[in-house]
Amino acid sequence: MNKVLAKWWEPTDGGKILCTLCPRYCKIGDGQPGFCYIRQNIDGKLYSIGYGRPTGFAIDPVEKKPLNHFLPGSTILSFGTAGCNLGCKFCQNWSMSKAKLDDDNSLDVSPEGVVELAKNYRTPSIAYTYNDPTIFGEYVINISKIAREEGIKSVMVTAGYIDKEARKDVYKYIDAANVDLKGFTERFYWKNTYSHLNDVLDTLIWLKNETDVWFEITTLLIPDENDSPEEVRQECDWILKNLGDNIPLHFTAFHPDFRMLDKEKTPERTLTSARKIAIDSGIKYCYVGNIHNKEGQTTYCPNCNEKLIKRDWHSVISNKIKNGCCTACGEKIDGVYV
Ligand code: SF4
Repeated sequence: MNKVLAKWWEPTDGGKILCTLCPRYCKIGDGQPGFCYIRQNIDGKLYSIGYGRPTGFAIDPVEKKPLNHFLPGSTILSFGTAGCNLGCKFCQNWSMSKAKLDDDNSLDVSPEGVVELAKNYRTPSIAYTYNDPTIFGEYVINISKIAREEGIKSVMVTAGYIDKEARKDVYKYIDAANVDLKGFTERFYWKNTYSHLNDVLDTLIWLKNETDVWFEITTLLIPDENDSPEEVRQECDWILKNLGDNIPLHFTAFHPDFRMLDKEKTPERTLTSARKIAIDSGIKYCYVGNIHNKEGQTTYCPNCNEKLIKRDWHSVISNKIKNGCCTACGEKIDGVYV
């Protein structure tokens, strides 16, 4: 597929191009790519060179995104591309996110082709995931528009590091998102992800107040980096105050990877303690991930405490939600259900 002229850029006085897609605001010289590798200045214009170039497809359970309140138990066509606009030292997908566009390892698939794949595999939704889909926003828009016409939903799995204007375009046909809130201090964000906390918080507030996108939040807890009870409590308090009590929160386990090989994997008790802090503070739905923990992976009715969805890892074992409500007491369970 040919490179596609990018949206969200402007020329600068110095002859470089300013990319306005994400808050990194790269200034890109002629012939150069931006930080994310897949947006390039070619002869004074910015091109999305990752457009139409997924690195492969998988059919995942939607719980793997993770989304526990969005079509639970369904499958989702999932793909990403090379590159990323963050620089996470602990990236668990670094073979993709740190790859430059490589013709041998990227496919060539039109937006229509992606939707056709979802139809062929009968997945009710498509996930833009693995690396951060913000950086291939033009491709996301074109796929999600066609998908919506075909009755297929679209899901962003993202760090939420996106410009305020660009996000209005990228999320126009998006139905759900999982946003990584990677920690709750600016120190952690800058040192370990090379991005800024406040930009991510701003995206979360925007999703809540100005869109109909169903979203859940994931925090990967890394020993001695972002896992202190105080930091977890501050994160929960911020969510409650700014987003409300019905946004599902996932605490997931880190394993040593990429440039963070000196840490141990997250102990189970760190995750269960964080979940307890969240629930005690008033968050209705909190889960643990990347470990086997049946209690921490069950959806409970926030009113009567009935076990509504039992899970093991990413598998749904049983689901007692009917018409979006608890079958025991009738309480509405927040989320998107068939
Ligand atoms: S999307 Fe890529 S090129 Fe654009 S500002 Fe962000 S990192 Fe830089």
